Amino acid sequence: MNCPCCSGKSYDECCKPFHLGQRHAPTAETLMRSRFSAFAIPNGDYLMETTLPTKRKLHNKEDLQEWGEINQWTKLEIVRAPSANEVEFRAFYIGEKGNPQLHHELSLFQKLNDRWYYVSGEFLD
Ligand SMILES: [Zn+2]
Repeated sequence: MNCPCCSGKSYDECCKPFHLGQRHAPTAETLMRSRFSAFAIPNGDYLMETTLPTKRKLHNKEDLQEWGEINQWTKLEIVRAPSANEVEFRAFYIGEKGNPQLHHELSLFQKLNDRWYYVSGEFLD
């Protein structure tokens, strides 16, 4: 299958090794892509594991899993990466009631012990 992150690669050659823990995402952007794919799959464990440990208490694995499940994740667009630890993206999805939705966010990432983690996001219009 094509990778849900819209890289044009197959899932096996793109985000799957990250989801299975075989490899760690080498950049903030690849981590961001793999987290989008993890909503599409969905894989709540991965979303939790890739959140900065000190920020995990702000999230709930079941909620992440459910958010992935109830929406249909159609497209990811990377808008820009203003620095090595920031990625602006647009995530397109079809909501529960069949309505198209757009999530536009500037995400902040942090590298810790050679692994990238999601820190937080600023929602944009
Ligand atoms: Zn991918």
